[in-house]
Amino acid sequence: MISNKQLFLQNNAQTSTSPNLLEVDRAEGIYLYDMEGKRYADLVSGFAVSNIGHRHPKVIAAIQAQLEKYLHLTVYGEFVQTPMVRFAQKLVEVLPDSLNNVYFVNSGAEATEGALKLAKKYTGRTGIISCYNSYHGSTHGALSVMGSDQFKQGFGPLLPHVQFINFNEAEDLHLITEETACVIMETLQGEAGIRVASLNYMQKLRARCTEVGALLIFDEIQVAFGRTGTLFAFEDYQIVPDILLLAKALGGGMPLGAFIANKKVMGVLKDNPILGHITTFGGHPVSCSAGLASLEVILEEELVKEVNRKGEIFRSLLVHPLIKEVRGKGLMLSIQLDSFTQVEKVSQLCKERGVIIDWFLHCETAMRIAPPLIIKEEEIHQVCAVILKALDLI
Ligand code: PLP
Repeated sequence: MISNKQLFLQNNAQTSTSPNLLEVDRAEGIYLYDMEGKRYADLVSGFAVSNIGHRHPKVIAAIQAQLEKYLHLTVYGEFVQTPMVRFAQKLVEVLPDSLNNVYFVNSGAEATEGALKLAKKYTGRTGIISCYNSYHGSTHGALSVMGSDQFKQGFGPLLPHVQFINFNEAEDLHLITEETACVIMETLQGEAGIRVASLNYMQKLRARCTEVGALLIFDEIQVAFGRTGTLFAFEDYQIVPDILLLAKALGGGMPLGAFIANKKVMGVLKDNPILGHITTFGGHPVSCSAGLASLEVILEEELVKEVNRKGEIFRSLLVHPLIKEVRGKGLMLSIQLDSFTQVEKVSQLCKERGVIIDWFLHCETAMRIAPPLIIKEEEIHQVCAVILKALDLI
């Protein structure tokens, strides 16, 4: 009989020539279980999605309750749907006053698209500034602001008037001018291999955008909801973006994205012309129910409070002659090795021993450590022992 793996390779479009091919039967908390019942600690969190672990009971209950009421009803922005209303209310409550209007979409890339359009329409300008080694999604607009020529090959022409600056380099900030509609930046660069900007840089960036009237977009699609030790990563910098992008952990395991701005800014999407951004499924009731439940878990269980301490435990344990550096903040960490061959070998050995790690789009020489925030201290010790053993064996 043809296996699911063979069918997957045969009938499902592939994104690389070497997919992971782990066949998962079920997932619970920080663990995935394969078809033979073997357990794997998920140190990737489904790429920064499962911040509260897989299938949290409160998220499952919220999904089930919504299933009893309705699924899709109509396009975004028409009917008043309770899950979307309540979730936006909660997000506005936990965000600074100026970020008070939520546009729900389906994914991170769509949040990027919506935000770029919003900035152009609001400012009447066309210039966009992004960073080298950034990642904001894979659709045409999002790809245009991706800071890597390699991944754009064969997809041009992309958006015009996009300029790139170096992340965390204040000398480049003069390139933000009165022609700039927006600067789009990850608050912490993820796919670059986890790069953290300085407080001074971030404050200068904010000041420069305000000075020239450019909107500052922070992409927190990967870092929000506690991963870096604060509910939103920008909190650490004592600044507030004009537009905030969320996705991944936003939906508590369901597909959901959002771009959030001030009501006055967001207002330009509703007329002249109407329907400035539209989406059929954005803010899906089941996704919003799951997302709200997930945020409530993060707040009620005070998961963010423990993130930095857990990150420190990882750092104290991850000491090995082959580890050049451990970068990042909280539970968004990268372990710098020497080569992709090393990273690949360690990942494979970890997988064999029941630990899932990965690497980064723009930094294949570093390993990604981004476990669910609920990981326990003894589990951190267990997974680090596996990683260190794998490093010994390569
Ligand atoms: N922005 C960042 C920082 C991301 O890490 C990602 C996905 O990895 C995206 C945007 C795109 O999100 P999605 O895959 O939901 O389109």
